[in-house]
Amino acid sequence: MAKTPETEHPNKAFGWAARDKTGLLSPFHFSRRDNGENDVTVKILYCGVCHSDLHTIKNDWGFSYYPVVPGHEIVGIATKVGKNVTKFREGDRVGVGVITGSCQSCESCDQDLENYCPQMSFTYNSIGADGTKTYGGYSESIVVDQRFVLLFPEGLPSDSGAPLLCAGITVYSPMKYYGMTEPGKHLGVAGLGGLGHVAVKIGKAFGLKVTVISSSPSKEDEAINRLGADSFLVSSDSQKMKAAVATMDYIIDTVSAVHALFPLLGLLKVNGKLVTLGLPEKPLELPIFPLVLGRKMVGGSDIGGMKETQEMLDFCAKHNITADIELIKMDEINTAMERLAKSDVRYRFVIDVANSLSPPP
Ligand code: NAP
Ligand code: ZN
Repeated sequence: MAKTPETEHPNKAFGWAARDKTGLLSPFHFSRRDNGENDVTVKILYCGVCHSDLHTIKNDWGFSYYPVVPGHEIVGIATKVGKNVTKFREGDRVGVGVITGSCQSCESCDQDLENYCPQMSFTYNSIGADGTKTYGGYSESIVVDQRFVLLFPEGLPSDSGAPLLCAGITVYSPMKYYGMTEPGKHLGVAGLGGLGHVAVKIGKAFGLKVTVISSSPSKEDEAINRLGADSFLVSSDSQKMKAAVATMDYIIDTVSAVHALFPLLGLLKVNGKLVTLGLPEKPLELPIFPLVLGRKMVGGSDIGGMKETQEMLDFCAKHNITADIELIKMDEINTAMERLAKSDVRYRFVIDVANSLSPPP
C-alpha cells in the first residue's frame, strides 16, 4: 500500500497545510523522520510568514505540490542531536531557513553557496535527500541535517529574529556580493514589506543613505520614524520620482508583483546597480536603453549560503537588527495571508507556534 504523509516516517507530526490553490490552510497530520546521525531535531517556537509561503500555497509559480506545509523562518530549540553533530547541543536555540538539503560536494557547496547547488532542497514543497517530501515550519517540529541549522545568537529575540532567516539573508547577501555596502552611498529599497523593511535596517547599519520607494503612502511616517529610512518616495508621485532621477547608487527591489523596472532604473546614477529579489508569477520587462546609456546593471540573488546566513545573524545581533512583527496565533494564519496579499502587514507576520498550535483531533 502506498505510504501516506502520516505513515511514511516513524514519528507523528502535525501542522497546518494548504491542500489546493485556494491556499486555505488547515490542520494536517503527517510524520517526521527519525533523528539521523547528522541531524538536529528542532522543537519549533516561532515561524515567520514570508510572501514566498503565500506564492506557494496559491501555486503562483506552478510547482506547488500539495499538501503544502509552508514556513522557512524557523526558530526553535534543539531537542535531539545525532552522534556526528558537532555544532549543536540539546537545548541550544537554533534557526532553520529556506533550505534544508544540498549535495554537499559540488562547486557551489564547496564555496558555501549551498543555495545555488543544483540538488538543493527547500524546507518545504521540495524533495529531501531521503526522497520524501519536505514540510516546513507551520508545524510543531522539524528534523534537519546539521549543515542547514544555524546557531541563533544570544542577543536576538526568537520571535522578531525569526524573519532574518529568510528576509534578512535575502537582502544581506546581494548587498555584500554586489558591493552595495560603501558607507555614504545611496540605497533605494523598492517595496516596504518583510524583505524591504529589513533591507532598510541593514542598509543603515552599513552606513548608507536609504530611500524607500513604495506604492503605499501610508507607510511614510513609519519608514522614516520607526525604521530609520532617510527619505520616502511614493512610486505613483511622478513629480517626486522625477526629482529623484539619477540620485541612487543601488536599488534592492523586493516587490512581489509584476511591476515596471523603467522608473526604478531611472533613479539610478551612471554605473548604478539594481538587484531584483521579488519573485512575481510572470516575467518583468527589462528596458534596455537606460541600462546601456547609463552602464547600469540588473542582477538577481537567492537567499544565501549557510556560512553567510550565520554571519548575517551575528551581524544583526551586533547591530540590534530585528524585524518589526505582528505576532499571530496559528489559527489566524488565513486572515494574515489575506492581509499579506494586500501589502497590509507591519512588517512581518510571525506565528507563535509553540503557544498556539495544538494537535488536530
Ligand atoms: P511582502 O512582505 O508582501 O512585501 C512585498 C512588498 O511589495 C509589499 O509590501 C509592497 O510594498 C510591494 N508590492 C506588493 N504588490 C505590489 C504591487 N502590485 N505594485 C507595487 N508594489 C507592490 O513580501 P516579502 O516577503 O518581502 O517578499 C517579497 C518578494 O520577494 C516575494 O515575491 C517573495 O516571494 C520574494 N522572495 C525572494 C527571495 C529570494 O531569495 N530572492 C527570498 C524571499 C522572498 P509597498 O506597500 O511599500 O509598495
Ligand atoms: Zn522567504
